[in-house]
Amino acid sequence: MSSPHILVFSEKATVYQELGQILPAETVTVHLATLTALRNALPAPEAALVLLHLSAANEAEALTLIDERAADASLVIIASETPTVAQFNMLLEHDVQALIAYPFQTEQVRATLTRALERAARQASQRYLKDNLTRVNRQLNQRLQEINAIYTVGKSVTSSLDVEEILARIVEASVNLTQAEEGFILLKNNGKLYLRVSKNMNAELAQRLCVEASDPIARQVIHSGRPTMLQRSTKIATGYLVRALLYVPIQSPERGTIGVLSVVNLEQERAFTENQLFTLSAIADFAAIALENAQLFAAVEAERSRLSAILEHAAEAILVTDLDNRLWLWSDSAAENFAIKPDARGQKVVDYIENIGVRELFARLGKDQTLIHNEVDLEDGRVFNAQLSSIDHIGRVVVMQDISHLKELDRLKSEFVSTVSHDLRTPLTTIQGYVELLERAGPLNEVQRDFISKALHSLNHITDLISDLLDIGRIEAGYDLEMCPFCINDVIQRSVDAHAVLVEQAELFTVLDIPDEPLWIRGNARRIRQVLDNLINNAIKYSRPGGAVKVTAQPGTDYVIVSIEDQGIGIPLEEQPKLFERFYRVHTPEVEDIYGTGLGLSIVKSVIEKHKGRVWVRSYPGKGSTFAFILSLCPPPSEDANA
Ligand code: ADP
Repeated sequence: MSSPHILVFSEKATVYQELGQILPAETVTVHLATLTALRNALPAPEAALVLLHLSAANEAEALTLIDERAADASLVIIASETPTVAQFNMLLEHDVQALIAYPFQTEQVRATLTRALERAARQASQRYLKDNLTRVNRQLNQRLQEINAIYTVGKSVTSSLDVEEILARIVEASVNLTQAEEGFILLKNNGKLYLRVSKNMNAELAQRLCVEASDPIARQVIHSGRPTMLQRSTKIATGYLVRALLYVPIQSPERGTIGVLSVVNLEQERAFTENQLFTLSAIADFAAIALENAQLFAAVEAERSRLSAILEHAAEAILVTDLDNRLWLWSDSAAENFAIKPDARGQKVVDYIENIGVRELFARLGKDQTLIHNEVDLEDGRVFNAQLSSIDHIGRVVVMQDISHLKELDRLKSEFVSTVSHDLRTPLTTIQGYVELLERAGPLNEVQRDFISKALHSLNHITDLISDLLDIGRIEAGYDLEMCPFCINDVIQRSVDAHAVLVEQAELFTVLDIPDEPLWIRGNARRIRQVLDNLINNAIKYSRPGGAVKVTAQPGTDYVIVSIEDQGIGIPLEEQPKLFERFYRVHTPEVEDIYGTGLGLSIVKSVIEKHKGRVWVRSYPGKGSTFAFILSLCPPPSEDANA
């Protein structure tokens, strides 16, 4: 530590020499004790002690001067003779450390000065600590204010999606925090920089920047992505002179540097600080987030209105719901056909829409079901084909198309087929009868017999075809479909029995697995028998000798599943979806050699659907097939009803 420095004001040169002997000479600096010398020497912050050798002429003024200009220095007064009362009073008044008399009493002076120096050193270090504390406190306060401002900006910025409003708040906060004279934000658009908002900016300059900011410093910040802080007079923008400027980049994580947040001082020399740079950078980050949010919001809004426009004008009736099946969006056609008013948004479909078909669609929604079809009948007789799809985490979309004209065409076609089939059946029966009678008309040779057999075979085929077609027509039209409770166990048993001969001929065997307890179905026993006959017949036809035909009835709580399983040729996977279409036969050489019309399974499907059931197939080529259908059980008819 360097030795303490002592300033001595005295008119006597001997004072210096004597003090030099008492204290190390280099620590003592002597000045003439005139007022001018005092004025010139003070303040002397490095001096630990100021020793003032008073002369009666100047003591009052000298003391005032020291009070004013060296308030922090410790003062020791050298009195020429024995100190007077006035000098003691002075000592009290001016916070004087000590009073020493001249001529010096060496030991006494040394002891007094050593004590005074020690005290001065203590006071200096206290002062230093206090100053430091005040400085750190001030800095802390400043940082606190800045952080508070950043927080406030962050909060206000993220609470709004209006870009202009957000940018204005950001510039305002930046100017306030840095106490700058002006602030502005330049944003990049198509590679050019434009002024978006400004605070306190000269209107003329703002006008010029509006066109396209030709600010090279801003360009450099954009280019480098780093802030720039200039503290000397610089010409920016359109030739304006600034004293200090601080430019920080606005950086988007997606699009890089998208703009510059700037504060400038045009008049005042005050430079910006590192802290302010930090604060401004934090605010610029908020600006980037806010701009990004606003842009995303605008994009989402645009998408939403596009989607709404598409939906509204779609020809199909479209309903979009959330995961709770609450209406969210719908097309004009849906609004028109299902009386959906604007107040429907947020209402449950089943509470709002009265149409039974639409309600059924939602009622059928199972846990894992993603696609449901239904035909929706409208009051005016039109029919819509409705398809409901579930979309993960979003909700459901129902698309409905008017298929009334297709339905009408289908009806006309069925009517036509039915009429033609009916008209063909009578002459065909006559032909069949006469061909069968030919044998009785006289002896026939082998060739004639062979021709007759072939003709009869073809006639049988046409008759089967016609009766199948007539059946389909009747089933679809709902004729011959009186429904009443019957016991399906008996029907299965009778169908299996009826095929016993065929099974034997085909060198197969039957396994029958039906429960003893009667399973009651409300339906048409004759048609269900037809279904079983078709399926068992197919199982026999498409099997290889040695295989089993297994018929099972498995009851559930309120339903029964009937399945017919074989170990035959099986059906390729790609053919399976088309099996239930009319006239569809699998295109393999094996099937071509087996007699069939391709109508059996479509009859099965029509009958089961008329019974509100469902039919399906599971098959593996070369291993076999299982056709199954499900029907609802009904309570057994009461004894009275049976009687
Ligand atoms: P078909 O009169 O031709 O048997 P179906 O409508 O009953 O007509 O069956 C349609 C087609 O489905 C059949 O041509 C056959 O290719 C296939 N098929 C039906 N049942 C079976 C089965 N049990 N095993 C293999 N293929 C079958």
